[in-house]
Amino acid sequence: MNVNEITDLLKNPSKEDIELITHAFEFSKTAHEDQKRKSGEPYFIHPFETAKTLAHLQLDAKAIAAGLLHDTCEDCNGSDGKAIVDEAVIKKEFGEDVAFLVNSVTKLGTLKYRKEKEDKHEDEKWKAENLRKMFLAMAQDVRVILIKLADRLHNMETLEHVPKEKQERIARETLEIYAPIANRLGMGSLKGRLEDLAFPYVYPEDYKKVLEITKGKYEEKKKQLLKIKYKIEEEIKESGIKNYKIDWRVKHIYSLYKKLKKPEFNMDISKVYDLIALRIVVDTIEDCYKALGLVHKLYRPFPGRIKDYIAVPKINGYQSLHTTIFADGGNITEVQIRTQKMHEESEHGIAAHWAYDESGKPKKTGAVINPRLAWINQLVKWQKDAIHSKEFFEDLKIDFFKDRVFCFTPKGDVIDLPEGATAIDFAYAVHSEVGNQAIGAVVNEKFVSLDTPMKNANIVEIRTQKGKKPSSSWLEFTKTTFARRQIKLNSKR
Ligand code: MN
Repeated sequence: MNVNEITDLLKNPSKEDIELITHAFEFSKTAHEDQKRKSGEPYFIHPFETAKTLAHLQLDAKAIAAGLLHDTCEDCNGSDGKAIVDEAVIKKEFGEDVAFLVNSVTKLGTLKYRKEKEDKHEDEKWKAENLRKMFLAMAQDVRVILIKLADRLHNMETLEHVPKEKQERIARETLEIYAPIANRLGMGSLKGRLEDLAFPYVYPEDYKKVLEITKGKYEEKKKQLLKIKYKIEEEIKESGIKNYKIDWRVKHIYSLYKKLKKPEFNMDISKVYDLIALRIVVDTIEDCYKALGLVHKLYRPFPGRIKDYIAVPKINGYQSLHTTIFADGGNITEVQIRTQKMHEESEHGIAAHWAYDESGKPKKTGAVINPRLAWINQLVKWQKDAIHSKEFFEDLKIDFFKDRVFCFTPKGDVIDLPEGATAIDFAYAVHSEVGNQAIGAVVNEKFVSLDTPMKNANIVEIRTQKGKKPSSSWLEFTKTTFARRQIKLNSKR
């Protein structure tokens, strides 16, 4: 283990960055000197791998240093006469920011223990409580969660060494808490890895079944794809598109499992067209649409399966064009087209948007610039409003993890809402005053009442009346936390 293995992953580290990381490296190595992992390896491997993941994500030096130090406070207890590592020591050695990060990760600690009982309500409460903890930490500084995710990734990679009775619980936490958060932060690659590592421990029987079903399928599909790839490549070469890369991605096994379990698939692998998908990466958005045209010129598209996530991105920021084509010999194949920037964002999510101020230093708070991840800023704002009620976090969970509905203003701005949201939620999402003074809505050119549920791709215009006040009866059909709060604040008593 050498500190270069971490710093070499960084694109433009400054001298100070390398010094900070090297100091943390040496400090952590000494602190963990006599400790062993369950596997019998030196404990230091764990913080080292955690820091490598953070460096791979291009996080700043302070976060990487904190990754190296993240277990020094809880795990080194000084019982054999060694100096106890506490927050004050970290602060003295590494400064306030690193100490804050290490302390936050330590405090986040382990999740609240789940009772073994299969009580659905208890289960929901467990999830809500743990998500609440995560969101609170995230609202303070997103780096805390990123360190926690990198920490969990290495723990999952070494889960085989953990006692059997603990494996399932840790894997389930990963599947239900950590992977959804990675997904919510747009970190597709991390989410996929966490899920795939947890899958065999949480659903061992189903895991075996999926392995059986897919036996030989990947190889078969790759052979078919080679021909299609070659043909598309020829076409793109001739078209004058300058920089392009054609590759494929293999579907993550847990994501495949979730698909197979849906009633319309019923474990039938022949219905899954994206087991391996072709992926075309180009320079510009214009080239994306151009490439889509070329693909459709060669192969007939499957009706109803062309998805434009460039014009309407997924809630976590994901952008790409997807199409499914009938290729040679009746092969049905998915093709994904995106720019290099979209590609990096879909792999690394929030880490690809790390917010820097003018001096090039990362901002101290969890605030991010990308509008698609604006919900984190919203979270920070709500957090500052200090509304910590249980109900608030229940609502928060609904807002962020349920499926989303995308609607449009007449100007074409996208308003995204949780499933089941109504016109009044839309009104408040546009502006609190639009919500407060709303009297009705025009949805796809038809006048409707405020309790009308919103559907994907609705074009919505809210009708208002000056000086009007919201009615508390609206709460009966209001779904979003923001709208509920505004109605409670502003309605007549
Ligand atoms: Mn750890």
